[in-house]
Order: sequence, then C-alpha cells, then structure tokens
Amino acid sequence: MTNWRETIKEELTNGKLRCLKTGDRFRFECHPDCMGRCCNRADITMDPWDVENMARGLALSCADFVDQYGEMYYAADTNWPTMRLRHAAQGPCTFLLPDGRCRIYPYRPRNCRAYPVGRSLYIGPADSAGVQAVQADYFMLNTRDFCLGPGANRTWTLDEWLRDSDCTDFFRLSTAHLRVKALARDLHYREWNPGSPPMLLSLFLYEPDLLREEFDISEGDVDHRNFYYRRMEALKFLLINLAAEQGHRLNAGEAEDSGEVCTIDQARMTMLELMVGFLNNVDKQGYSW
Ligand code: SF4
Ligand code: SF4
Repeated sequence: MTNWRETIKEELTNGKLRCLKTGDRFRFECHPDCMGRCCNRADITMDPWDVENMARGLALSCADFVDQYGEMYYAADTNWPTMRLRHAAQGPCTFLLPDGRCRIYPYRPRNCRAYPVGRSLYIGPADSAGVQAVQADYFMLNTRDFCLGPGANRTWTLDEWLRDSDCTDFFRLSTAHLRVKALARDLHYREWNPGSPPMLLSLFLYEPDLLREEFDISEGDVDHRNFYYRRMEALKFLLINLAAEQGHRLNAGEAEDSGEVCTIDQARMTMLELMVGFLNNVDKQGYSW
C-alpha cells in the first residue's frame, strides 16, 4: 500500500516537489499554448465543501451534482468515502470549455484553484478526550511536466498565490473534514466498516441540502459555512459512537475506560436526534489550519 507521507518525503528530497516557506517566490502564470492540459485525466479529489459549493454554483441539488459529476471511491488505507470529479479522471473534464477555460471557474474545487500549490497536512492521533494535534502542515509547489506555467516571468509568494486564487478559506474548510477523517483512522473505521458508509455518514458528508430540508434549517438560521462546521462536528460524534458500539475507543486505557464515550444509551435519544442537535446548537469551534 502506498504511504503518501513517504512518497511526499521522497519527492521533496529528489526535487520533484518543492517545499514553500513564507517569503519564498515561485514563477507561475497560465500559458495560452497549453490552456486546459491540466484538466485532462486529472484526479481531482473534492472536499465535502467543494461538492456543495459546486452544486450551488450549478443550481443543482448535491445528490444531482454527485449523480452527474461525482465518483465515490474508498480510500485504500481507511476505507473513507471520498469523492472525485468523474469526468476529469477519465478524459477532458466536463467543465473544460473549448478555449481551455473552466466553465465553473468561480466555484471550481480547491485542488483546481490551488494548483500548482499543494498542501501536506498530517493530523496526529487523537487523545482520549478527542483532541487532535497537527503534526505536519506545509505547502509545496507541485508542477506537472506538461504544464508551461513555471516558465512565466510572473512570480508569487505563497500568501499572494493563496489570496489571488481565493483558496485560503477552502483549505480551512478542508482541514475540518481532514480532522474527521483522522478521527475515523484513529477509531479503526475500516475494521468495523469495510463496506459502503452508513447512510447517516453519507448524508452529513455530502447532502447538506437534504439535511436542511429534512430538519427545516434554512440558510437564514445557519449559513452554509457554519452548517458545514456543524456537520463535521456531528460526524465526529457519530464516528465516536459507532466505533464505541464496536468496542473501539480513543486511546482509553483499561483502568479509565468507563464506557462514557457512548452517550446514545445514556441520553435515550436516537443518534439522528443528537446529530441534528449539533446542526442547530453547536457553535463553530476554534478551528485552525
Ligand atoms: S495550469 Fe499549467 S497546464 Fe493548466 S492551463 Fe495553466 S499553464 Fe496550462
Ligand atoms: S473543474 Fe475546471 S479547473 Fe477543475 S479540472 Fe474541471 S475544467 Fe479544469
């Protein structure tokens, strides 16, 4: 199984990737001779935020967007349900216009807007209270051989690039999802869920519009961004409880394992009712990069 952290280290060592520190400058500008090469046979992974943002941009429900443009796959190491842009992986992206521009440019996914900048974020194991420490977080320059962008005269710092491509907030939102994924890893999600994800998990990850409709939560009640953070918190709660049902807890030693992690029985409420409580009542936590 490929270890992506090892691959990144190797590519940083052999110069294929370049670590970008504050103040480093790099050359880049799209070249008219190769417009759109990067949108062909490209593996574009979408965050849950990308899915809802693109669906809104196209005036589609999230379910319709996923039906038409998404492809769910399961990460090899964790079995976590992950979404990619279906057509981009197989040939020209369906949003690529004949002149090489992107039809959905204002709401293109994070990976497209950040290119040629990529980020490596590693969230370490959660402690028994669920606190997750970031163990590695850095940006890298990852230009592809076919891309003529690095030959340009225009130069950027990392901050200038992130600002210009408007992806700072996309990375923040992505971090909240990566924290959920890291928790799933720590709770051995793959062991107790080797197949497709439980319906609630898919719903909270990829169908916020349906959630709003079902539970009558309008954008005026909770805006999209806060609703997203609340969904991520609810997903952590769901994972902790589903894992506890299977006997998996967060680093709880035998002596201190009181079983209190599983709150479902104590509260005598359904999982769904509790998760909806998160959507309505939990304020955004102090997320950092
Ligand atoms: S990012 Fe690179 S490959 Fe894509 S259009 Fe710009 S110059 Fe061409
Ligand atoms: S969404 Fe736009 S930028 Fe991204 S691969 Fe498709 S055409 Fe290219």
